[in-house]
Amino acid sequence: MVLSVQPARPIRARIDTRAFRDNYLLSKRTAPQARAFCVVKANAYGHGLAQCAQAVRDVADGFALLDLAEANYLREAEYVQPILLLEGCFDAADWHEAASLRVSVVVHSLPQLQALEAARLMRPLEVFLKINTGMNRLGFSVEEVPEVLARLRASTNVAAIIGMTHFATADGEGVDAPWAHFMAATQDTGLQISASNSAALLRFPQTHGAWVRPGIMLYGGSPMPALQSAADIGLKPVMTLESALIAVQELHAGERVGYGGTFVAERAMRIGVVACGYADGYPRHATTGTPILVDGIRTRTLGRVSMDMLACDLTGIPGAAIGSAVTLWGKGLPADEVATAAGTISYELFCALTTRVPVSFAHD
Ligand SMILES: *Cc1c(COP(=O)(O)O)cnc(C)c1O
Repeated sequence: MVLSVQPARPIRARIDTRAFRDNYLLSKRTAPQARAFCVVKANAYGHGLAQCAQAVRDVADGFALLDLAEANYLREAEYVQPILLLEGCFDAADWHEAASLRVSVVVHSLPQLQALEAARLMRPLEVFLKINTGMNRLGFSVEEVPEVLARLRASTNVAAIIGMTHFATADGEGVDAPWAHFMAATQDTGLQISASNSAALLRFPQTHGAWVRPGIMLYGGSPMPALQSAADIGLKPVMTLESALIAVQELHAGERVGYGGTFVAERAMRIGVVACGYADGYPRHATTGTPILVDGIRTRTLGRVSMDMLACDLTGIPGAAIGSAVTLWGKGLPADEVATAAGTISYELFCALTTRVPVSFAHD
């Protein structure tokens, strides 16, 4: 085998754990009266749970995630903060594991409530009572809250109760109606509350309550890129996806690029071929014109994204050659811009990074 003498494919994701920490501290400064769960579901939005958690070990008020295995990892790694299971428990065994790991659980449905009442737990759990305020995904209706609350209060498996909701439109039209519903359901209960995702944390301070739940902003994505850029919020990019040119082509006028030949050169031009494709997690829906950096200079993608490659315009970058550095998103090129060009959101770009992309972490 001679594989070891092959140069590595140049694609790499660099995770700036210091930027992650700075973004978390910004979220805390923005909601100074609240405690802030670091939302690290989905392997910290594709950034790496272990390294992101480590970067905020001494400052994080808590962690929110979905998976008991991830909660178990944090407890084994001696994180002592509250951990919130955002979808609660899925089966009977989960309640016992949650109790033994000392994690807080969302209760969002009658079957979950019944399972909690029926369990014989080693210690009572802190429960986040989820109230549906218009997302219509998880949660009890406002009308159901009094009965659910009474049952939770009567259960010996419940140590404390926090009222919770999740907004469907905090990044857009706002939260007036859902907030009014949530207030109606909780205001006479004496419950502490948790309602704010990143967008609500940044835009609607009245929703901060006892616990905010910032996610995307910790990773340097704007929760509402059409309204405010990440840089304008003061957020720093955490993931930078880099690669290099592995080929350069000289096109004549009329020649085409990539599958389907969707880009046609209007005049003679140089193009670069980048070692990055949809099998790395780059969005195939990114159309011609999606921004990309070559040797730090902003240019555009050309034609369809292939599985392992994409093409870019080298007009105005005469020094670009095989080996030139390419930034797909991150430092110098906001992921939000690439996401918008691909008809998606930065969340999806980050989570879609595939396992074949080597990841490195900076600890400065
Ligand atoms: C993912 C999630 C968040 C974080 O949302 P962002 O938009 O990434 O800030 C907050 N709360 C709940 C319930 C979530 O599922």
